[in-house]
Amino acid sequence: MNTEHRYIFEKGSKKHRCPNCDKKRFVRYIDTQTGEYLPEQYGRCDREINCPQQEYNNPYLDGYAKAIWEQEQGNKTEWKPQQPKRIKKPVNKPKRAFIPIQELKKTLTGYNNNIFIQNLLQRVPFPFEVQDIEKVVSLYRLGTVPENGAVCFPYIDSKGNVNAVQEKIFDYTNHTDKTKKYHTSWLHSRLTYNEYKNKPLPEWLEAYNKNETKVSCLFGEHLLSKYPYNPVALVEAPKTAIYGTLYFGFPEQPTNLLWLAVYNLSSLNLNKCKALKGRNVYLFPDLSKDGKAFELWSNKAAEIQKRLQGTYFHVSDLLEQLAPQQDKEQGKDIADYLIKQDWRLFRKQDIKETPQPEPEPVETSTREKREKREAPKKNFFFAA
Ligand SMILES: [Zn+2]
Repeated sequence: MNTEHRYIFEKGSKKHRCPNCDKKRFVRYIDTQTGEYLPEQYGRCDREINCPQQEYNNPYLDGYAKAIWEQEQGNKTEWKPQQPKRIKKPVNKPKRAFIPIQELKKTLTGYNNNIFIQNLLQRVPFPFEVQDIEKVVSLYRLGTVPENGAVCFPYIDSKGNVNAVQEKIFDYTNHTDKTKKYHTSWLHSRLTYNEYKNKPLPEWLEAYNKNETKVSCLFGEHLLSKYPYNPVALVEAPKTAIYGTLYFGFPEQPTNLLWLAVYNLSSLNLNKCKALKGRNVYLFPDLSKDGKAFELWSNKAAEIQKRLQGTYFHVSDLLEQLAPQQDKEQGKDIADYLIKQDWRLFRKQDIKETPQPEPEPVETSTREKREKREAPKKNFFFAA
């Protein structure tokens, strides 16, 4: 057997975090027989001078290749990999700073001026009940910027830390109001450039602005521990997650989807998905020209699933199959389709489980009768 060239460096320009120096300059080894990566420590850092190769980076030098070969021959082996030692300690990386909960609380008000919320109550084709809107607002902790009517979408992680608060001004159809210069902003930017303009920043904000990434958790992640058994629906934008909840029902029912959002197309990654470990996850990428979004999420989902044991990702292609080309070019999402339909038709599962009054009241409208008769469309997105 030829063990010489079984393990090779991954082709292409993909770089991983180096186990020695922590820089993202590490080319990993691939097992050509399985197509899989070798354990993370095996590879070559391309900072050759500052980060010399260690014996435990080479599967042929540290005994890995031999041990695998022995194992495959059915021989027992006592060999264990050496633990990587870091050459350079990570230069005291500042801890991630969060937005204080009081700042979030300040936004939980002013819903009469909140364009997004008022649209849902009054301007959409099938307005929602006040109780449902109150419920979704309190679940996801949606807020308002009273000065401009923007809705606040907070990204709260599973530990309850507020990672970021996105602020969006919508038009009366609940699409981004592109006539406004600052239609999409962040709470920390508004505070930095408006409220504290020409004033010293509070300590937390100073620290927060040094964070490398703003959105480092999922929108709705804080709900995962509250609803530990629900399957998860993952979409790009918070708005879509809110629509999904309003249409398909709330997560108190453990069979209902718990709707979360990643923020945008390109920010689906392993780190954010760690909170989803052990779940069934249904992904609904937005439409895109040539199905690029669908393809990107399908590939990412497969990659993430491999690394999160017991987690299953299913990417819905229903929109891809049904949508006309024009919708694809406009990058429409499921929210655009849902909002045109009566949400009552989607909640039939709930209606069905409610004990039916006996006898049926005479004044039941034709629509209600029709709803009761129709069987729930259980596999709406995965019918194909
Ligand atoms: Zn290195």
